[in-house]
Amino acid sequence: MPFKSLQPDIDLPTDLTVWDWLFESPKYSPLAKHSETQLGGYVNASTKERINWKEVKDATTYLSTALVKKYGLKEGQTVALFSPNSIWYPVAMFGTLRAGGIVSGASPAYNVEEMTYALKTADAKFLMTHPASMEVATAAAKNAGIPKENLFLIEGKLDGYTTIKELIDMGKNFGEQGQIKSFKIPAGKKNKDVCGFLSFSSGTTGLPKAVMIAHQNVIAQCLQVRQITPSDLKRVLAVLPLFHITGLVHGLHLPALLNAEVIMVPTFTMKAMLDAVVEYKLVELLLVPPILIRLVRDPIVDQYDLSFLRRFSSGAAPLSEEIIQLLKKKFPQTGLKQGYGMTESCSCITAHPPEKYDYKYAHAGGTICASTTVKIVKEDGTEVGVGEPGELLAKGPQIVMGYLNNEKATRETFDEDGYLHTGDVAVIDDEGLITIVDRIKEMVKVKGIGVAPAELEDLLLGHPNVEDVAVLGIKDEYAGELPKAYVVMKSGVEGDELVGRELLKYVKERKVRHKHVKEIEFTDVIPKSASGKILRRVLRDQSRKGTTGV
Ligand code: AMP
Repeated sequence: MPFKSLQPDIDLPTDLTVWDWLFESPKYSPLAKHSETQLGGYVNASTKERINWKEVKDATTYLSTALVKKYGLKEGQTVALFSPNSIWYPVAMFGTLRAGGIVSGASPAYNVEEMTYALKTADAKFLMTHPASMEVATAAAKNAGIPKENLFLIEGKLDGYTTIKELIDMGKNFGEQGQIKSFKIPAGKKNKDVCGFLSFSSGTTGLPKAVMIAHQNVIAQCLQVRQITPSDLKRVLAVLPLFHITGLVHGLHLPALLNAEVIMVPTFTMKAMLDAVVEYKLVELLLVPPILIRLVRDPIVDQYDLSFLRRFSSGAAPLSEEIIQLLKKKFPQTGLKQGYGMTESCSCITAHPPEKYDYKYAHAGGTICASTTVKIVKEDGTEVGVGEPGELLAKGPQIVMGYLNNEKATRETFDEDGYLHTGDVAVIDDEGLITIVDRIKEMVKVKGIGVAPAELEDLLLGHPNVEDVAVLGIKDEYAGELPKAYVVMKSGVEGDELVGRELLKYVKERKVRHKHVKEIEFTDVIPKSASGKILRRVLRDQSRKGTTGV
């Protein structure tokens, strides 16, 4: 029997877009309930620049008008956002959504090749970027056939490029009567059928794919999480990257529903984050395990009085029991909650409700979110009960539409009954708490960001001396996991330390930092199935027993 949520079902609108839901619907929008002076919004913690929800609404109205009337953006076209965290990022995002476009975020650290792949896979027609990323953006846009006039700046100024503020002014010049109407869900469709976002994930296997996230998925996730959010959450820390699903939903959308203020730290350093935490007296910190590790290990933390902190929220990757205990010891006045999910579930499948914000429950990923059903299954597909491990399958309104232009991967990951196959091994206890105990999919999680082994394998196979290769994740205290490559060299080439170092450098020169390979091990053969699939589990078991390598 599937496990059901213990929370009451959410009351989900099925015909609203994200923009109309947040800015026009009296039932949900903070604009309908608060005066302008009471409105939350986005704040840049370093420059103190701030925009409230009303200003976001106006700016995105004008932006959408400029994009449609001046630049010819059509419904269903993709706008790529390639920028560090910025208070103008959500303006670019909501403006695109209001125009009926699709938003696709990419890591600001991507190189030209990676960005080209992201733009082509998402079929982007426009690109909004930051001065620091302009060189990569220009080259990638050219490769992906995006004309220079469709390249805009989210922040700052650069000769020859239109800025988002200029776009907003352009739209404003059309006057109140000249503004385009906000995009509506087409007749005959529901908001679950209309894609609003494309985020990247390798899913359970293969290369990174563009995950199609519907308007409904984001709305549902925000409503699910609001139910279990305490009323003291008036300010939200946004240090997690906005291109990742956790930042996108919990840093940009949920705060609008809560009429909260989002404190953005554009460039992450422990000092910048802690300064913001103290200045804005943040009671809850949404972080990923590598930052929580630094909170207990980095001596800079001791220079701050954090006694006002009430709880930590951890997500995107496993949190070790050791760190849980160290947090409890160092910050005894706090509680800890987790969220567990993936890009394909638009963030959380499980999360802790307030009555479980306690370190004794912190090992778990939480309980099942509202309106969500979970199955835990053995390899042969049979369901298991309380206390038994198996793959976690999830069904609910936050489960996304599938992968863009990739029917095969969509069919493999989302089954006919509507369940997402997560590739994570979980155990549920008799209180409904779900703990993730293993991962059977290929993904390597580096500092909370998914790395696709297939991407690194493809790259290394292109090296003239490499015959065969398999990449696995190995444990790392700080990053959680790091990629390790098992390499078979071409005959006649000796796999020695010098060659190993050359291969590490080869990856370093071609991939963004979180994809860098930590270790190379030379081996005689990569175990494969009859159909040629890498038997990762065999390799992992061999590696654990120390029987691989030379
Ligand atoms: P992503 O699509 O990048 O969000 O990655 C999703 C994957 O991250 C999940 O399938 C899990 O393997 C892992 N993950 C996310 N949250 C947690 C958590 N709270 N505990 C353990 N693993 C997690």
